[in-house]
Amino acid sequence: MSLPNLKSFEVWFITGSQHLYGPETLEQVAQHSQKIAAALNKSKHIPVQVIFKPVVKSPEEIYNVMVAANTTANCIGIITWMHTFSPAKMWINGLKILQKPLLHLHTQFNRDIPWNSIDMDFMNLNQSAHGDREFGFIMSRMRIERKVVVGHWEDENVHQRINNWCRAAAGWHDWQNAKFVRFGDNMREVAVTEGDKVAAQMQFGYSVNTYGVGDLVAVINKVKSKEIDALCANYDKEYKLMPSLKKNGAKHASLREAAKIELGIRGFLEAGNYKGYTDTFEDLHGIAQLPGIASQRLMADGYGFGGEGDWKTAALVRALKVMGSGLQGGNSFMEDYTYHFEPKNNLVLGSHMLEICPSIANGKPSCEIHALGIGGKADPVRLVFNAGAGPALNATVVDMGNRFRLLVNEVTAVKPTKALPKLPVARVLWKPLPDMNTGCAAWILAGGAHHTAYSQNLTAEHMQDFAEMAKIEFVLIGKDTNLYNFKNELRWNDAAYK
Ligand code: MN
Repeated sequence: MSLPNLKSFEVWFITGSQHLYGPETLEQVAQHSQKIAAALNKSKHIPVQVIFKPVVKSPEEIYNVMVAANTTANCIGIITWMHTFSPAKMWINGLKILQKPLLHLHTQFNRDIPWNSIDMDFMNLNQSAHGDREFGFIMSRMRIERKVVVGHWEDENVHQRINNWCRAAAGWHDWQNAKFVRFGDNMREVAVTEGDKVAAQMQFGYSVNTYGVGDLVAVINKVKSKEIDALCANYDKEYKLMPSLKKNGAKHASLREAAKIELGIRGFLEAGNYKGYTDTFEDLHGIAQLPGIASQRLMADGYGFGGEGDWKTAALVRALKVMGSGLQGGNSFMEDYTYHFEPKNNLVLGSHMLEICPSIANGKPSCEIHALGIGGKADPVRLVFNAGAGPALNATVVDMGNRFRLLVNEVTAVKPTKALPKLPVARVLWKPLPDMNTGCAAWILAGGAHHTAYSQNLTAEHMQDFAEMAKIEFVLIGKDTNLYNFKNELRWNDAAYK
């Protein structure tokens, strides 16, 4: 399933007020709100539609707009703003039933105080400084998770923060009723990739179900020779093909086999409306190769993927792809593979047996075939490349037994200075923040998985917004992390989630 067009999503702009002020003031409130909603809708930073909704002035109007937001399929969240004072007991019943994410925009129509003309009419109209505090109180009193963005509505930084929240809301929306398929079960004896799929569905809205690998093989075996011809030609066009894989090359049959696997998995996912999948090298009966280039290209098209049965990471990769849609850079399944402990130049080499998404590639990937010492299958075809340098992050969802934890480590990817001529897989080199020792220690203390979703185009802010929408624990390892505070945070979180 390809990525949704973010412009097909709506965020509703809802302004609170009350009847006290009289029709003239309320008319002005409505006009100002329309102007703000229109400006946000037009902002080049905001990827979704921002829709003005009539100003709400009573408990009934508030309740009704929340019902409508809940039941409008493409409404992914609401932005609220109290231009005037809107007594917040009026909001209780509406907020009680709201099922969509909420952003509280704490702004004001006028940027500046009109020093020479300000009078009590102006004061009467421009009250968000205290109106939004009344609204904030009821949200806190009701323990409702939300994002608060403060600033003038024309400020680009405000647009950027709304943008980040909209993107998180799009990822969250995409998870609701999403389906992920597992071909085979978990890699035997692995702990962190396990988890409670019933709890996950209740918390996250997506389902994970299994199919026997034989069901997939049946689809792979129906792929037509002509489709394989076309896809192999496509590989030749998009990548630097190793000579042996080219037409008439000694290993061309393996390329055809890889193409057949890709077409089969793609067909299976399309027919079942799946947004991602997992496989495992321990259960590939009837498939010639471990899906390498197939998983890489399906990820590039927006599918979530996790190796060795890792459904939590498959779902997370999908969510990140939706959230980052249209932004420069990519998102991929990732694994911390091996370390470089050179003093003053500590590095993590991230990679996987095969399945790294070419959306993070720096330049044209090469398409190669090499032996794989694991799984006992034929040599798999894969894309090999280096990833781009720059700020990035690793994210993982872990099942702590009584809750899910979203753990994020901000990293700085660096350009490889060596050629790595014998490494036959796609790879990334990064430095964890705040430094290698602290970053890795914190990750391990938090129970972070070896699998992650790696993002070049999302930030800790996107991830925190997303965790808050999911109502799960969010733990960040970044430039300010120190282990003393971090350990205490984990302890206190344990108590908070008891
Ligand atoms: Mn793995």
